[in-house]
Amino acid sequence: MIIYTGGTIGMKADATDQTLKPFDFSQILEEVPELAKFAFKIDSYTFDPLIDSSDVEPGLWQKLAAVIRDHYDRYDGFLVLHGTDTMSYSASALSFMLDGLSKPVIFTGSQLPIGIPRTDGKENLISAVEIASARRSDGTAVVPEVCIYFGSKLLRGNRTTKISAEQFDAFASPNLPPLAEAGINIRYNEALIRRPEEGEPFRIDTRLDTRVSILKIHPGITPQVVKNILLGSETRAVIIETYGSGNAPTAAWFLDIIREANRMGKVLVNVTQCPSGCVNMNLYATGKPLLEAGTVSGYDSTTESALAKLFHLLGKYGDNGQVKALFDLDLKGEITK
Ligand code: ASP
Repeated sequence: MIIYTGGTIGMKADATDQTLKPFDFSQILEEVPELAKFAFKIDSYTFDPLIDSSDVEPGLWQKLAAVIRDHYDRYDGFLVLHGTDTMSYSASALSFMLDGLSKPVIFTGSQLPIGIPRTDGKENLISAVEIASARRSDGTAVVPEVCIYFGSKLLRGNRTTKISAEQFDAFASPNLPPLAEAGINIRYNEALIRRPEEGEPFRIDTRLDTRVSILKIHPGITPQVVKNILLGSETRAVIIETYGSGNAPTAAWFLDIIREANRMGKVLVNVTQCPSGCVNMNLYATGKPLLEAGTVSGYDSTTESALAKLFHLLGKYGDNGQVKALFDLDLKGEITK
């Protein structure tokens, strides 16, 4: 089943203001007659309204999870056509919301609309359909995971980040190699692919609590900004994007605010600003105080994945202590421990 949510892949220039706006799924099919060559049936589900993914809200993730649940038994795999801007957030969120997944849920989209001769949309769509339908000799899905297929690579969704507003190779998975690469053949990295436990039932959990903020540390950051973000009554958790291996200023005012937020019971997560590598707060004298002040490690998590994991855990548990403890675990292959 192809679930169409919007994004550049299905956009064309509006006649009045020339900005790109989504068009309907039948026009996508017209542009990709190759889909008819697959020896299986492809159905579609179109979201209404179709959106540019900059307008994605957690409500779309809840609806997406429900659509997958409602059609789960009738299809071998699911392909989600989605804008690239927030695709990593959506794929991360779905990875936490779907449990016991035994079928592929593959996100894809494109940098150029499908109606444009040089589009990357056709290859992305056709290969993603192939991956979503691939089966092993025992009949089970080759990739029963939430992934992004883009620019010839299949990446675990909750490991991805959009790295280019220009290149066809728009996504990276800096801390985990691709689950597959498409050349003449699609080569799967079987050893990395996660599988559900034997007999584990498929279920969704759509509870999400979005009371999370992100604080990006930078030279010159002021106490007022840090206070506003860390101590605001509207946040239950804050992702602190730190330097290098999880380091931050050691100024007394900064650590005092962190301690205060911790005393207030907030979940404080340390994620590095570096595109790759892992947080280790025991490495530097500028990291250890953060650990002592009560922050927890985000390990090698992307910010997108840490945000989605917090939405999910906070939605599921009212107790922040429990959220902290569970955040430390590798739930869906999102961190390396
Ligand atoms: N703005 C578009 C979106 O995210 C970009 C894209 O799809 O590539 O929907």
